[in-house]
Amino acid sequence: MSKEKYKPSTELCHDGDSYFTHQGAIVPPIFQNSLFAFEDWDAISNAFDDPAESSIYTRGVNPTVKIVEEKIAQLAGGEKARLFASGMGAISAAILHGVRQGSHIVSPQQIYGPANNFMQDYLSEKCGVEISYTDGSLEAYKAAIRPNTSLFYLESPGSLKFPIQDLAAICKLAKAHGIKTIIDNTWATPIFQNALGLGVDLEIHSCSKYLGGHSDIVAGVIIGAKKELDQIQLREQAWMGAKMAPFEAWLLLRSLRTLPLRMKQHQESGLAVARFLEGHPKIERVYHPGLESFPDYELGRQQMSGYGSLLSFELLTEDIDRIKQFTKQLHLFKMGVSWGGYESLIYAPLISYLKEQTPEQFKAMGIAPGLMRISVGLEDVQDLMDDLSKALEAI
Ligand SMILES: *Cc1c(COP(=O)(O)O)cnc(C)c1O
Repeated sequence: MSKEKYKPSTELCHDGDSYFTHQGAIVPPIFQNSLFAFEDWDAISNAFDDPAESSIYTRGVNPTVKIVEEKIAQLAGGEKARLFASGMGAISAAILHGVRQGSHIVSPQQIYGPANNFMQDYLSEKCGVEISYTDGSLEAYKAAIRPNTSLFYLESPGSLKFPIQDLAAICKLAKAHGIKTIIDNTWATPIFQNALGLGVDLEIHSCSKYLGGHSDIVAGVIIGAKKELDQIQLREQAWMGAKMAPFEAWLLLRSLRTLPLRMKQHQESGLAVARFLEGHPKIERVYHPGLESFPDYELGRQQMSGYGSLLSFELLTEDIDRIKQFTKQLHLFKMGVSWGGYESLIYAPLISYLKEQTPEQFKAMGIAPGLMRISVGLEDVQDLMDDLSKALEAI
């Protein structure tokens, strides 16, 4: 693409011509090959002089993957992006990059479960890494700093009750103490939250959610400074091996064309459903950062330019049979984990917790048994509200 700078929707719909000049194909082809052959000794030797940028082997640099990485880097305003086999592949690589034996991490409570388990159970046991949980406020992050604190983990908004951290202030504090910052920015996407611009070092997305958007890929990405991304690519990613497959990258490229359009609709429908639910007599409370009733509403408005459509709400009833009945009455909201796709979904966190806990213990954690998480898809929003309305009437 020319040096001119266009707006995201334009950039996402045009590809660079540096890689793909093949026969004028409008869609870049899939480089479905594991290795790249070189003309001679000198040519491959030169490639090894810059392993982070040279196509030698597909665990390193694959041209199809690279074109998507460049698009995402540009979209997020970062120097470089690196795609991973999953969001967790990206999260674990970024965390490992930010700690050493005996390091200390500060994190908000109730972050994405597997990320939490990786730090709290795995890294603590294997590497003596310590983790402190905060309420997410600047004061709490400040109070939690120790001499061995190397990493501030952020997830803003979170993905259950959507708590928001003051990113600019917390990142400023981190920089003053030489602490690295990582954000899981999956909920807002680069369309609605410019995390790197707010001072975060490494921005992560599960591309399995909005970036992919069609519930057909599992993928992740880290975006940040080239120096740091090169290190992650050549160490944590090359050695742990969570590389992105060319075909998945190609599907992701197709998805990115419509990301701004999809996010616009997700935002509009998500807010409409949130407002509808908030006014419903059988609902106790709705969690959506775009509702004026949301505790961090003002902070969210300051640092985001829009909203995702994953939201949660508490049914008034705490009777498990009735709660089950409600989910059963829904036809358009399918029961399932994950989110961010074209299709609407519902999940009750209670289902996972009941494996190990009683509803009373669940409540003691501050989560109501009737907490429902829904991902508002791209169906007609009136149909979605009618579906919810009928299911609510039935209980
Ligand atoms: C799904 C998810 C992840 C993990 O991504 P995978 O692609 O499933 O590995 C991380 N963070 C959040 C907030 C998620 O919802």
